[in-house]
Amino acid sequence: MSAGLVQAAYIVAAIFFFMSLKGLSAQETARTGNYYGIAGMAIALIATILGPETSGIAWIIVAMVIGAAIGIFYAKKVEMTEMPELVAILHSFVGMAAVLVGFNSFIDPPAIPNVEALAEAEVHAHHVIHLVEVFLGVFIGAVTFTGSVVAFGKLRGVVSSSPLMLPHKHKLNLAAIVVSTLLMIHFVKVDGSMFALIIMTLIAFAFGYHLVASIGGADMPVVVSMLNSYSGWAAAAAGFMLANDLLIITGALVGSSGAILSYIMCKAMNRSFISVIAGGFGQEVASSGEAVDQGEHRETTAEDVAEMLKNSKSVVITPGYGMAVAQAQYPVHEITEKLRALGVEVRFAIHPVAGRLPGHMNVLLAEAKVPYDIVLEMDEINDDLSETDTVLVIGANDTVNPSAQDDPASPIAGMPVLEVWNAKDVIVFKRSMNPGYAGVQNPLFFKENTQMLFGDAKESVDAISKAI
Ligand code: NDP
Repeated sequence: MSAGLVQAAYIVAAIFFFMSLKGLSAQETARTGNYYGIAGMAIALIATILGPETSGIAWIIVAMVIGAAIGIFYAKKVEMTEMPELVAILHSFVGMAAVLVGFNSFIDPPAIPNVEALAEAEVHAHHVIHLVEVFLGVFIGAVTFTGSVVAFGKLRGVVSSSPLMLPHKHKLNLAAIVVSTLLMIHFVKVDGSMFALIIMTLIAFAFGYHLVASIGGADMPVVVSMLNSYSGWAAAAAGFMLANDLLIITGALVGSSGAILSYIMCKAMNRSFISVIAGGFGQEVASSGEAVDQGEHRETTAEDVAEMLKNSKSVVITPGYGMAVAQAQYPVHEITEKLRALGVEVRFAIHPVAGRLPGHMNVLLAEAKVPYDIVLEMDEINDDLSETDTVLVIGANDTVNPSAQDDPASPIAGMPVLEVWNAKDVIVFKRSMNPGYAGVQNPLFFKENTQMLFGDAKESVDAISKAI
């Protein structure tokens, strides 16, 4: 394949990536968006492999077969609840790839095109730019790598979800940036130094670890989308080092869309963007949540809930992470259809950070074929909750916690929540009185109009469906 043809294929692939992002921005078109992305990536891979600069195709194919086999195995095996962890660990691969490409590109720099025709100063400029690309690429990649590994650990529950509070943590972050900048100046001045590159890589690894470890449970959604953005910039940096235009475009698309998503998530959670990306900069240490006597809670049965639902005019279902764990979306769809057939108005209220990944609930409900037009965002439905007869809180906790509004010392203070307590009756589906991801108790469970339906959400919803 000639270089011109490869460039043409890259343009086509880039157009597919634009169309993919456009498609992914709405539920109805998300599947098509995914197909565009697959098509774009297939074109990109074929053009790169068959391009004039590629050698060792046999090795590439062996690596692809091994990689694809591992990928297919895990994609088939992974539960929907483990998706966020999978995404986090995949981000770490992009980070590590950028680090490796950086070191490789430093040890074996690419030839400068038409070098004979260039003046000495121009060759020098090329060289300096390449060194800066290597340094920045390795830095971004290393931060992305350890940051994503920590995010993976937090989501999986092997690293504590509470923020790491080292003394002078912001000064440590600042020191990491200042020392890395000084090392970069030295790196360029001495025309490249493996020692400086390795020291900076170690600092960047520690910086990435510290940055994400300092962020508390409730802010994890922003971290997930922020690391998505970092992985994009790491890929773009790799694109610069490899002089691959498509990798630069793709990386920039992922980087900027991840940054926009992080910004939207911050706004949705009433958090400062800068504060979150700087590892909780400016946040006070919250101390609330423990040992407040909330009073007694009331329990109910599936049969009573079925009766209550049949007698309701309007029902709102607010799903959360527990619905994903229980895989309760299918029976939830079933009771939705049964109630609608009885003339009950059923709608869904989706909190922007419900679950463990942006859009988690929307994906599950779409998978169970719940019609899109009854699935509403928090802002669209919050005001209607006071006129709702029954709210079913299915495996949600932090996203329906009134402390966010009532307790300024709570770790989730200021986060907008679904005001389900304003409804006539609230039924909470969960297995115990344990707190949610942010680790704070929920006063909703003790309100007069709330009843708890204990047990696995799928079993509870199945039982209600039978009773209806
Ligand atoms: P929460 O994690 O607050 O609560 C989930 C609830 O589900 C728990 O109280 C748990 O209680 C219950 N549950 C678990 N398994 C089952 C089951 N099988 N059957 C019934 N109930 C079950 O979830 P929310 O969705 O309300 O809130 C999301 C939280 O996650 C927020 O704090 C958010 O910041 C954070 N987060 C969100 C991300 C995102 O991008 N959306 C990313 C990372 C974190 P019990 O154990 O008693 O059953």
